[in-house]
Amino acid sequence: MNNFTFHNPTRLIFGKGMIEKLTTAIPAVHHIMVTFGGGSIKKNGVYDQVIRALKGRDIVEFWGIEPNPTIETLRKAIELGKGKQIDFLVAVGGGSVIDGTKLISAGLNYNGDAWDLVKKGSYYDCIPMGTVLTLPATGSEMNNGAVISCKETQEKYPFYSDYPVFSILDPETTFSLPSFQIACGIADTFVHVMEQYMTTTGQSRLMDRWAEGILDTLVEIAPQIKNDPKNYNLMADFMLSATMGLNGFISMGVSQDWATHMIGHELTALHGLTHGATLAIVFPGTLRTLRDQKKDKILQYGERVWGINYGSANERIDKAIEKTEQFFRSLGLQTRLSEVNIGDETITEIEHRFNKRGVAFGECQNVDGKTARAILENCK
Ligand code: NAP
Ligand code: FE
Repeated sequence: MNNFTFHNPTRLIFGKGMIEKLTTAIPAVHHIMVTFGGGSIKKNGVYDQVIRALKGRDIVEFWGIEPNPTIETLRKAIELGKGKQIDFLVAVGGGSVIDGTKLISAGLNYNGDAWDLVKKGSYYDCIPMGTVLTLPATGSEMNNGAVISCKETQEKYPFYSDYPVFSILDPETTFSLPSFQIACGIADTFVHVMEQYMTTTGQSRLMDRWAEGILDTLVEIAPQIKNDPKNYNLMADFMLSATMGLNGFISMGVSQDWATHMIGHELTALHGLTHGATLAIVFPGTLRTLRDQKKDKILQYGERVWGINYGSANERIDKAIEKTEQFFRSLGLQTRLSEVNIGDETITEIEHRFNKRGVAFGECQNVDGKTARAILENCK
């Protein structure tokens, strides 16, 4: 196991009716900006609960943080917040609203253009923020990451800042989610766990078991959620799986991959594909391409998550990869580039971008432009 420091300061406030805890979660002195997406929360009663809980407080609303939040929109929020001397933020929505609000919280304490911060990759002089989560998927409610896009240049990059001070998770807020967003949220959670687990074997028994516990839970609840998406206990397990999948608890002292995410970000930046949908296409291709490098871990995963304990090593690896792709398909997601009409031109562009940036991802830092191309060729 590698050396590590672990510190996750986000207070989780979990359960039915817990949005009312907003009243006491934010000290009375603050000038608050509440940030929102496109309006789903007006239809499902979440907005009313938030406004009721913040009654009598000094608040400004900012609407319109879109899926894959863009710098173009966030600049407007930062300008508004600076004008109103905002010193606390509350993000109400999915990963996009939360991620966007993380950049706002950094941008409010920065004198230049917030895109500089994204290009730099991190900024920790932030004003505090809390969240009310409405879509289990990203783990953004309990981590310090964000992913920010630029519409003009069709780019999408990770950015690191402070953790939310608190996050309120009421599983009932998920009852209005369209089935496609649920599917993408399950795929995102599954791949987050895989990016931290599907690396080298033997680094930590404990991290392996925690990761496999989340994978097992997703595999068990996914078909049940499909039939019963308003089941409180199922959605509670999904919500907590998504949070625990990317809040640092399963990555202590172990190497990480993230190549699938970085390639997926390019597909979103270039074609507007939903984040979870890109991962369902790329991840099986990553496994097919790096099956030798990841051999031992694929065998462990196949046996522990899918019960594959017969056949030669090669046959078991084939089966584990097939099971993974089938799982995404069972969610109703597409798993091939041809199904979303993406071809060679995009593959060449992504290879070119990785080469130009001189990046290489994965636990062995070997997913460069050439390997990204090989992965995408294996997703056709
Ligand atoms: P999202 O982009 O926040 O939301 C997707 C859609 O779902 C929006 O149209 C939203 O509508 C709607 N929605 C949200 N909650 C709803 C509800 N309860 N009922 C009905 N509709 C609802 O989706 P996401 O998957 O959570 O976030 C994706 C973004 O997070 C991507 O940019 C991805 O790259 C990033 N990401 C971040 C991390 C991280 O660690 N920070 C990790 C992985 C991915 P409204 O706008 O109308 O609310
Ligand atoms: Fe993700």
